[in-house]
Amino acid sequence: MEAFLMGFSHFLFVCLLFTEPRRHSDFPRHRGWLEVICGSMFSGKTEELIRRLTRARIARQRVEIFKPALDTRYHAQDVVSHNQNSIRSTPVQSPSEILLLAGGATDVVGIDEAQFFDESLVEICKQLADQGTRVIVAGLDMDYLGRPFGPMPALLATAEFVTKVHAVCVCCGELAAYSYRIAASEKQILLGETDSYEARCRPCFLAGESVKTPGHEQLAENKKH
Ligand SMILES: [Zn+2]
Repeated sequence: MEAFLMGFSHFLFVCLLFTEPRRHSDFPRHRGWLEVICGSMFSGKTEELIRRLTRARIARQRVEIFKPALDTRYHAQDVVSHNQNSIRSTPVQSPSEILLLAGGATDVVGIDEAQFFDESLVEICKQLADQGTRVIVAGLDMDYLGRPFGPMPALLATAEFVTKVHAVCVCCGELAAYSYRIAASEKQILLGETDSYEARCRPCFLAGESVKTPGHEQLAENKKH
């Protein structure tokens, strides 16, 4: 019985793993596709993007990485994750620049913080994939109120491969899918880190939202000091 359970859990583990497609075997040559890595803040999206891009480079594929020019939290040119892994990237103002810069000579295009781009990113990713490029997009699937964020829903719907990664709830330790904003701002885009956001599970996110009052601004200020 024990052996059966171990075998079954191994089977589940293998099923849950992202199966990294290889250009020349799993897919016909010169065919592209779209992968999306989504999740809340602190869920490891960017680490997973960097991992896949690094592996593509080891396989001697031509890799280009882009991010929205507005995301300058860490470094103007690098895609940097929370654990300080980084990879050289090109900041762009709009998705159409990605198409121009990636051109036809790129095997793999990585795009970080995709939620900050407008809806035209969906068509750009489609065009790149149609042209034979492997496109890997990472982004927040929900904003600070739990609403689908920017072009992410359409990207998730049109991707061949979707990976949802989870953070750990800072309140209870369960899996977290929400980015709970502790800073007082009602703008959808507020760049920030642990001073502005917490990863929370659904019950802890709801509990936090229910106590937010007009005095929340002062509470958030007190928490920082
Ligand atoms: Zn929780």
